[in-house]
Amino acid sequence: MKNDPIKLYNTLEFARSLDAEDPLARFRNLYYIPRKTQREVVYLTGNSLGLLPRDTFTHLEGELFDWAHYGVDGHFRAKNPWVSYHERLAVPLANITGANKNEVVAMNSLTVNLHLLLVSFYRPTKQRHKIICEYRPFPSDRYALDSQIRFHGFDPTESLVELKPREGESCLRTEDILATIQEHKDSLALVMMGGVNYITGQAFDMQAITKKAHACGAMAGFDLAHAIGNIPLALHAWNVDFACWCSYKYLNSGPGGVGGVFIHEKHLNDPSIPRFNGWWGGDAKKKFLMADEFSPAPTAEAWQLSNAPVLAMSAHHTALTLFEEAGMMQLRKKSLLLTSLLEFLIQDIDNTYFKGEEVLEIITPSDPTQRGCQLSLVAHGMGRELHEALEECGVVADWREPDVIRMAPVPMYNSFEDVWLVWSSLDYILKKKFK
Ligand SMILES: *Cc1c(COP(=O)(O)O)cnc(C)c1O
Repeated sequence: MKNDPIKLYNTLEFARSLDAEDPLARFRNLYYIPRKTQREVVYLTGNSLGLLPRDTFTHLEGELFDWAHYGVDGHFRAKNPWVSYHERLAVPLANITGANKNEVVAMNSLTVNLHLLLVSFYRPTKQRHKIICEYRPFPSDRYALDSQIRFHGFDPTESLVELKPREGESCLRTEDILATIQEHKDSLALVMMGGVNYITGQAFDMQAITKKAHACGAMAGFDLAHAIGNIPLALHAWNVDFACWCSYKYLNSGPGGVGGVFIHEKHLNDPSIPRFNGWWGGDAKKKFLMADEFSPAPTAEAWQLSNAPVLAMSAHHTALTLFEEAGMMQLRKKSLLLTSLLEFLIQDIDNTYFKGEEVLEIITPSDPTQRGCQLSLVAHGMGRELHEALEECGVVADWREPDVIRMAPVPMYNSFEDVWLVWSSLDYILKKKFK
């Protein structure tokens, strides 16, 4: 976007012309778009639950067929043998996270994985016990960090440091994040934050944060729930220590879908790192020897506990295949334009309706390098009422307490026309209320 600025216009024709030129336009038809009163909704909650790819039905049916046909023998004789099913996901996950194949594994769910990684990478001492987290972390992340700190006998009021934006600002400045890391450098064990904040949609400079954490003698880990499949990632090159994510948001892998982890190569095969073990983390060659002694896999697979949930992983694999086909760079290119158009149209709303007072405030950074596809709005004087009115117009956005409406046009299946329809709904709603 930055080196290739496109002049934007507020017309349906213009939005349709962008769709006509969109090299990814065909992907929309590969998903089921929910309908309301016969019309496809404008679905802007792919950041909460991504839509169902049409192929997921057929592929899931294939696994069910193998189960019906082979019973337990499916572990070895199924078309995609269940015993090594997780291995199918390593390459697409490595591609989408910018990792090496041996650094990633699909397993469990997000909060479970966060705990397992903290077991390995949060080992507080009297001297170094603090965790720095983002401002307003997702509640589950806060509960995980809080309970890990207590588990180790420390007090979260002393050991958990929550970053704070400056007075009157909603987002964090990188310089302030780095300064806070510096400030706590003698007592810091870990910097653990989202790659993209779920409320504001701010994308953090993971490379700079990791570098600073390391310079201060701490580890750096990221929760990529809102980053994976949304922004390009280069976890290995950024030298991130560990990361985890879920697959049901931008990755479209279904409700409660299987999560995943990244563990940097430098931490693999390090016997000084503790880990909770289970049989599926064992070396593949020795898994069925049922030995008393655990021999860990030489890859991130060592962190696996149980045999793979094949049905959930089938949906995950199908969804990731579509990311492989579309390509993360192409998706990002479209995403920058989709979100810029949404921002432009929201800013084009005539504020004179509101007697000079701004109703719609975008709290997501305006710098495209500091955000993914989501824009977060605070609707002053309307709040939830605006969210409900949007629903009635067939625009599915979401509401986050206490005052934020999140809109995430995703490049995989949202169109530029969708974005224009958001404008026309907002325009209609605000005129009706204020004129
Ligand atoms: C969505 C989300 C979760 C949800 O956790 P689950 O364990 O998958 O239920 C946790 N943390 C963040 C940052 C999220 O965005």
